[in-house]
Amino acid sequence: MSTHIIRADDLHKSYGRGQTRFDALKGVSFTIEEGESIAILGKSGSGKSTLMHILALLDAPTSGRIALEDLDTRELKGRRLNRTRNKTFGFVFQQFFLIPSATVIENVTLPLKIAGVGAAERRRRGMAALEQLELADKAKNKAVNLSGGQKQRVVIARALVNNPRIIFADEPTGNLDSKTGAVVEDILFDLNRDHGITLIVVTHDDDLAARCDRQLRIRDGLLVDDTAGVAA
Ligand code: ADP
Ligand code: MG
Repeated sequence: MSTHIIRADDLHKSYGRGQTRFDALKGVSFTIEEGESIAILGKSGSGKSTLMHILALLDAPTSGRIALEDLDTRELKGRRLNRTRNKTFGFVFQQFFLIPSATVIENVTLPLKIAGVGAAERRRRGMAALEQLELADKAKNKAVNLSGGQKQRVVIARALVNNPRIIFADEPTGNLDSKTGAVVEDILFDLNRDHGITLIVVTHDDDLAARCDRQLRIRDGLLVDDTAGVAA
């Protein structure tokens, strides 16, 4: 038995094949404890997003494995994989991925709809998440009409609606001005601190990385630095 929420074992990821093959991850291993906040750092093209997609079970490694607690995720396929991902993780991406023509509440409750939750329960949980992000008054607005900061708060509400144990954030403040970005950062760290949600943030922002408990640095597909165990 282990207490690690995630364990990455010797992850390799190659794109393409033959002469055009590119090895984006070349053997990456580490463990993550529940409740940690972790920054994945590195230059553009170093393999951060590739690693995050594999950790979040959005993509499979070419070799190696991800364990979620004691579950070898290679055993998960199809609906069981989707259900596990949907139930365990929340996602906050730089590009928002909101449906512009849908309302805020529709966007926020989409993961619940996918999970087969009934309309009344969807509405109750969606409004609770929006209240937490101080967006309840925008529930009926179309997503397209929101500011960048409001959109990212809607994305966070959507990430929270399933009570995830882990939030993955890929450059969450990348499309925001610095003041709005700081608000979004504070929300993510509050969720980590007050609700014990494990936070895994991909960033090339050193200040954001420094706010995390731990920093993993990726260079050319290899983990070159892990501050775990190093005194702050
Ligand atoms: P980062 O997020 O650190 O900028 P990525 O993980 O997105 O880096 O990409 C790592 C490397 O893998 C880059 O060289 C990128 O061009 C390459 N890569 C990423 N996705 C693909 C893909 N679908 N096909 C081919 N190469 C890819
Ligand atoms: Mg990236």
